[in-house]
Amino acid sequence: MDDLATVLFTAREIQDRVRDLGRTISHDYRGREPVLISVLKGAAMFHADLLRAIELHTSVDFMSISSYGAASSGVVRIMKDLERDIGDRDVILIEDIADTGLTLTYLLSTLRDRRPASLEVCALLDKAARRITPINIRYRGFECPDKFVLGYGLDYAEVYRNLPYIVAVEDMDALAADPLALAPLLHSPS
Ligand code: 5GP
Repeated sequence: MDDLATVLFTAREIQDRVRDLGRTISHDYRGREPVLISVLKGAAMFHADLLRAIELHTSVDFMSISSYGAASSGVVRIMKDLERDIGDRDVILIEDIADTGLTLTYLLSTLRDRRPASLEVCALLDKAARRITPINIRYRGFECPDKFVLGYGLDYAEVYRNLPYIVAVEDMDALAADPLALAPLLHSPS
């Protein structure tokens, strides 16, 4: 497996970091009731774990988007919008990974138009080397190398979201030829 993918963050490392983020958010938002918005589907697992690490009253809401045009063109269509108004609310946007930053830039501008009291980003992974538009990530899980990553919500062709850890793909050609090339990982704990 090692020539195809290497483990970047173990399940234990992720859980420890998510607990730290939850503690920091609980401290920063003490006395307030933030709305945690996650972007389906990649951020769902991170969102669920982070929520359980936050010791505050919170609300949750979800958005689902699809990019059209070239991948990561920043042209995004909202497939599922929020259920509640976020006007005057403290909003934290939860993302799986900030790559070029184009998706987050679009989402932030859409959310800002709804006049929240505050708006911050919490991203599990930050692939800063690929950033095209600068974004302010208030809460960041890990710096991520410039490699395609999978697991803990992140997929390839809808596979691998349920890996409890995150791997970097070392051979994209092999994965493109066979999206299940890394399936043995699904049976090996890390
Ligand atoms: P951006 O607009 O920042 O370039 O792209 C953000 C989105 O691209 C993420 O929310 C994620 O869905 C997808 N993405 C970016 N990099 C990766 C990666 O390494 N692995 C996976 N599975 N998805 C990625």
